[in-house]
Amino acid sequence: MRDADTSAGTAVDDAIARAAELVAGSSYLIAFTGAGVSAESGIPTFRGQGGIWGSYDESHLELGFFRREPAIAWKTIKQIFYTFTLSVEPNDAHRVLARWEAAGRLRLVVTQNIDGLHRRAGSRNVAEFHGSCDELVCMRCGGRVPAAAGLLDSLPPRCECGGLLKPGFVFFGEGIPADAYETAFSAAAMADACLVIGSTGTVYPAASIPRAVKRAGGRVVEINPEPSEFTDEVSDVLIRLPAAEAMRRLEAAVDAI
Ligand code: NAD
Repeated sequence: MRDADTSAGTAVDDAIARAAELVAGSSYLIAFTGAGVSAESGIPTFRGQGGIWGSYDESHLELGFFRREPAIAWKTIKQIFYTFTLSVEPNDAHRVLARWEAAGRLRLVVTQNIDGLHRRAGSRNVAEFHGSCDELVCMRCGGRVPAAAGLLDSLPPRCECGGLLKPGFVFFGEGIPADAYETAFSAAAMADACLVIGSTGTVYPAASIPRAVKRAGGRVVEINPEPSEFTDEVSDVLIRLPAAEAMRRLEAAVDAI
């Protein structure tokens, strides 16, 4: 092994050991996840290599465009978020978080993701800050229906009342769901530790959540192969690894304490 590899490996080992101490010693641990937590499930992140927006038109996720051209917008949305996203599986990062919740170690996952993978991995306490793909919402009567197969055979999908159905996730230009917002910021005020996994830290107001933990005196453990906006500002520890590998190693280190 070359010297640089050795020192990088030592830095990762040290980071995992420090993170494990913080996790094991915490009494109110939350997790904040972004697109990177689902990357190893095969869902590309928005930005960076293999990012979604290289191949699709971002304007198709703006509310104004959706209202004007629902059939065109739905064609893109179906390809990215339904045909593809619903066919992938949770990875070990989602699974470790679900196990920690079941064991009483983790209070809440706040996710920016709309892929539903935390719930599918078994997490119950999930604040889906940007909504999710799992339901469709009627733009006329406000009714919600599960995004069942068949509903998207003919686009755009319609509610029983005849109204246009929109995906249950937040579009550009839309507000954050009130219950997820309230749950996330209440937990951030109480948390003494926060795991930040796979987020650039550039999308607001979501990116305020780890900052709120820090302001209230909590510690922040970041998992990301690359530094982010959080790294210098709020992270006490950065584990520079992909999420699934990092969480497998962190779980083992916590269990060994
Ligand atoms: P982003 O796409 O802007 O950034 C992804 C981050 O993940 C980067 O910091 C990158 O270094 C990191 N990353 C890449 N691979 C990783 C891995 N294997 N393990 C850990 N980290 C890894 O994502 P964002 O900051 O979360 O925000 C963009 C918005 O896009 C969010 O609102 C999010 O909801 C949405 N989004 C959601 C999904 C999804 O639901 N799976 C996918 C793409 C984007």
